[in-house]
Amino acid sequence: MSKDERGRPTRRGEPYMDEPEAKPFWAACREHKLTAQRCSSCKKIFGFPPQAFCPHCLATEYEWVALSGKGTVYSQIAYHRSWHPTYQDKIPYNVSLVDLQEGGRLVTNIVGCAPEEVKIGMPVEVVFEDFPDYTLPKFRPVK
Ligand SMILES: [Zn+2]
Repeated sequence: MSKDERGRPTRRGEPYMDEPEAKPFWAACREHKLTAQRCSSCKKIFGFPPQAFCPHCLATEYEWVALSGKGTVYSQIAYHRSWHPTYQDKIPYNVSLVDLQEGGRLVTNIVGCAPEEVKIGMPVEVVFEDFPDYTLPKFRPVK
C-alpha cells in the first residue's frame, strides 16, 4: 500500500491509521474499545478525527479516555451506488454521524438493520468490525 508524507494510505477505502494523533484511537479499536481525546484544560471531548489540540479551547494537553460506546444518530444517508470498488458488495449501506454520549461526533456506519430503518435521534451502541490490518467502530440500534 502506498502512503503519503503523513503515513496515510493513498488507496481509498481504508482509514488513516498512522497519523501520530490517531494511532492510540486505532490501537484501542483493535482491542474493541472506543476511546477519545479529553482536553486536560476544559475537560471536553475533542471529537473526531483525533487531532493535536482541543477544538474548544485550543489547549494542546489531553488524555485518552474510554467511552461508553453509546450515542444517537445525528444525521444519516443510505448509499445505493458504489463510489469505490471496496463498497461494491455492500450496497445499499448507511453512513451516519453519531453523537457520542460523552461528546464528540463520529462518522460511521449503522449496521444490524436496513439502511432505511436508520432514523435521526435513534439510540445506538458501538460494535467493532475486524479487518486484517485494522478494526472499524460501527454502531447498531440499541434494542
Ligand atoms: Zn479544551
